[in-house]
Amino acid sequence: MTIEISKSKNKYILILILICIFTCKLVNKVHANSTKDKGFNVLVLNSYHQGHIWETSIFNGLLSYIEKNNEEDINFNVEYLDFRNNYDNKYVKSLKSMLNEKYTKGSIDAIYTVDDEAYDVFSSEVLNKNSNFYKLPIIFSGVDNKATGMKEEKSYMAGIYHGDDSLNLINLIYDLNPNMKNINLIIEDSKYGNSVKYEIDRLIKTYLKEKVNIRYIKGNYIEDITSQLKKIKNSDNTVNIIAGEFQSISSKTYKSPKYTVDEIKKYSNAPIYSNDQTYMNAGIVGGHIDIGKELGEIACEMLVKLRKGVSIEDIKNTTEPIAKAYVDYKSIYKYNINPFFVDKDVNVMNKEIFEFLIPIWMKWLILIMVMVIIIVILVIIKIVTKRRKIKEKELEEKQKALEREKLKSDFIVNLSHELRTPINIILGTTRVLECSANKEINSDYLLEKIENINKNSYRLLKISNNIIDITKAESGMFKLKLEKCNIVSVIENIFESSLYFAKRKNIKMIFDTKEEEINTAIDVFQIQRVILNLISNAIKFTYENGNINLSMWTEAENIIIEVEDDGEGIPSDKLNYIFYRFYQVENLYTRKNEGSGIGLCIVKEIVEIHGGKIEIESEVNKGSKFRVYLPLNLEKDIPDYESLSIIDNTQTVNLEMSDI
Ligand code: ADP
Repeated sequence: MTIEISKSKNKYILILILICIFTCKLVNKVHANSTKDKGFNVLVLNSYHQGHIWETSIFNGLLSYIEKNNEEDINFNVEYLDFRNNYDNKYVKSLKSMLNEKYTKGSIDAIYTVDDEAYDVFSSEVLNKNSNFYKLPIIFSGVDNKATGMKEEKSYMAGIYHGDDSLNLINLIYDLNPNMKNINLIIEDSKYGNSVKYEIDRLIKTYLKEKVNIRYIKGNYIEDITSQLKKIKNSDNTVNIIAGEFQSISSKTYKSPKYTVDEIKKYSNAPIYSNDQTYMNAGIVGGHIDIGKELGEIACEMLVKLRKGVSIEDIKNTTEPIAKAYVDYKSIYKYNINPFFVDKDVNVMNKEIFEFLIPIWMKWLILIMVMVIIIVILVIIKIVTKRRKIKEKELEEKQKALEREKLKSDFIVNLSHELRTPINIILGTTRVLECSANKEINSDYLLEKIENINKNSYRLLKISNNIIDITKAESGMFKLKLEKCNIVSVIENIFESSLYFAKRKNIKMIFDTKEEEINTAIDVFQIQRVILNLISNAIKFTYENGNINLSMWTEAENIIIEVEDDGEGIPSDKLNYIFYRFYQVENLYTRKNEGSGIGLCIVKEIVEIHGGKIEIESEVNKGSKFRVYLPLNLEKDIPDYESLSIIDNTQTVNLEMSDI
């Protein structure tokens, strides 16, 4: 009865596992080729759970080899044997019989055992006549080369032996921590954990016997590990080595590597190392880089050979490629490890391109040196630019001085010409009068000669007045005599007085104002000079039968007076210069009109002393438009303007028009 019950219980478990494996098979079957019957079927036996990082990367290696070499007809049947959680005889036995049920004789062509647990369990199947896997070739990886087996058994197997990565890890750790006294070996409670323990133990005993003391921290749960770590008091000169994966008691799930490392860090301030690729970038100092994919590719190459008919006995065993050591850049500084201890072959992870693996003091030194160099460069740049600026300024000043010199000499030439012309005329006229002294002289003839003398004397007077005013303006001595007046009638008066001069050239002059009365304070005499200058220029540079318009109006707080002619105009490249002292557009020997080139300069000075401005628009052969802006000045304590007598006004007009 009892036997019956146990049998039915076993049957029940068997069915359950069968269902489970069958479901697994559906999920995990990977075809390199979709036609299962034609292909080469490989049973891939993973020792651990699905998602185990190391085994996943080995499997990726298989796939990558297939893809790279276009080996299309290989099918992978993947099984996860979960030996971490179950490894007793009962489980192993039922697992074998389940796999026998699942994979019928002839459905599998080769087996690939990914880690040593799977190898240990299935290597014996090759000589088991009752097994569906009887005499099937086995490719293995992760197996210790000391693993024993019967000679006959071994003739059905080939693969990749486990490398000496523990020795490499101890070398890396000892390089970086030459004062290491203690190792906390944190391992999972599994065959893998035990093999790491065995290896490290052996190495320390062989090479670092009295120097280093190992403390074993073993368990499958993080809580177990941390409670053991808590008990270790002195963690000076200690390093932690971690191997395996850990679950949490509460959730019974494998925790992420980062979580595990963070938990360990809470109870131990010693640097953490690991050869498990899982822990790369999880906050440990270093270890060896993932070679799972490389391993998978080597294993796949062996499987492909089998597929191509090479006998398993002709496939040579090999050893895992040596994994490259790596260190985490930031952790080196965090754990005060001397960066110079990092061998040049070691890969430095998480280092920015502009960062260097050198001691902190050296970084500071370099920083200071770089700063000093930058400062020196900046100072040099500043000195050079300053010198260049000084040179440029000197050059500019030299040029200005040359220009000034040229203007001066032009002025002297102009002036002597300007002076000589009226003086010659006056002298000529007086000589004529002298000669006619004893003759009877017609009064009209006499008046004409006297007017000639007057006009040329005015011309001389205008030149000397202008020179005095310019000198005064330059030294700030030009003072205004402000008077309140109706500026419209002042301008209109001046306009009327100049009609006579325009008429001589048959030029039509129009005065136009929008307002009859605009009261403001101005220096009447100086503003009259301004307007007369503009009108005299307009008459001078307008052809016979031309037109001159004088208009005025107020706009905002300004009085605007505009003198427009349709004369010869000014080239645009000369416009900027006409207000310069002694500047004339035409040169002395080709010009058609008289003048000293200081009229507009004085006009500008007078307008600006009044707080106004002058603008010009001109086009060659179309005419010119001068616009004077004077601010409305309504200050109270300014005396009223008393109109000058006509004679005085005529004198001013004659003076300003003397060079027409
Ligand atoms: P100038 O005593 O020679 O007239 P200004 O300073 O009054 O000296 O004028 C400077 C130069 O500006 C003139 O020589 C002339 O070339 C030019 N200019 C002034 N007003 C006019 C105008 N209305 N039309 C054409 N050119 C003018």
